[in-house]
Amino acid sequence: MPAGTTTLQRSHVEQLVRQILKDHLNTPVRTTLDIPAISTGPNPLLVNVSARHIHVTQSDLEQLFGPGAKLSTLKDLYQDGEFASEQTVNVIGPRNRMIPNVRILGPTRDYTQVELSYTDGIYMGIDLPLKTSGDHDNTPGCVLVGPHGAVNLSKGVIRAERHVHMSPDDAAHYGVKSGDYMSLRIHGPCGATFNNLLVREHPKVKLEVHIDTDEGNACHLASATKIELMK
Ligand SMILES: [Zn+2]
Repeated sequence: MPAGTTTLQRSHVEQLVRQILKDHLNTPVRTTLDIPAISTGPNPLLVNVSARHIHVTQSDLEQLFGPGAKLSTLKDLYQDGEFASEQTVNVIGPRNRMIPNVRILGPTRDYTQVELSYTDGIYMGIDLPLKTSGDHDNTPGCVLVGPHGAVNLSKGVIRAERHVHMSPDDAAHYGVKSGDYMSLRIHGPCGATFNNLLVREHPKVKLEVHIDTDEGNACHLASATKIELMK
C-alpha cells in the first residue's frame, strides 16, 4: 500500500454515503410551487413526481428487516405524516430481473404494494396493470428481498394511476369530486397535457398532483413554465 493511504473501514464508507445522501436530499431544489399555476384555487398547486416505491405492512417489514423493525425517516414528504424511509429493498420479477434499492414510503399500511413505471415494467417483464392505490384485483406479484428475509408477494405490483390529492375546499373550487377525472397541462419547451387524472379527495390532504417518472420525464417537468389543472 502506498505511503499515506489509509484503508476505508466499511462503517466509515457507510457513514460517508449516508451523509452525502442527506446533504443531497437537503439541498433546496426547485419545486413546482415555484411554477406559476393557471386558475389558482384556494391552495397552491404542486405537481410531484412519484419515483418507484413500495408500501409495506408491519408484518412484511419485519419479514424483510427483522422482528420489531420500524421504518425510520429519511425525508418528510409534502403530505403531512408521510415520509421516504431509510429502508430500501430489492424487487425481483418473473424473469429474475431485479431493481435494487427501491425505497419504502412510510408509514406502514394494511397492504403491501409495489408502484413501478411502465419503463420498469418492460425491464422487469411485468405487464403492469393501471390501478389506484390499494386496488389489487388481478395484479401480479413479485419477490421482495431485504437484509433479513424475503417476501413472496402474490399480488400488489401496479402502475399507479396518475392522480390529484384534494381537500374538499379545492374540490369545490375546481367543481369536482372524488373519482372524477381532470386534466393536467404542463406548459414549457417539452410541455404535455395529461388526461385521466383521478381526483382523490380527503379532508386532510394538501393539493398535490402525483405523476410518475415516465410522465415527469415526458414533459420535462423541470423546465415547465406554467402548470394548469383543468376539469
Ligand atoms: Zn399520491
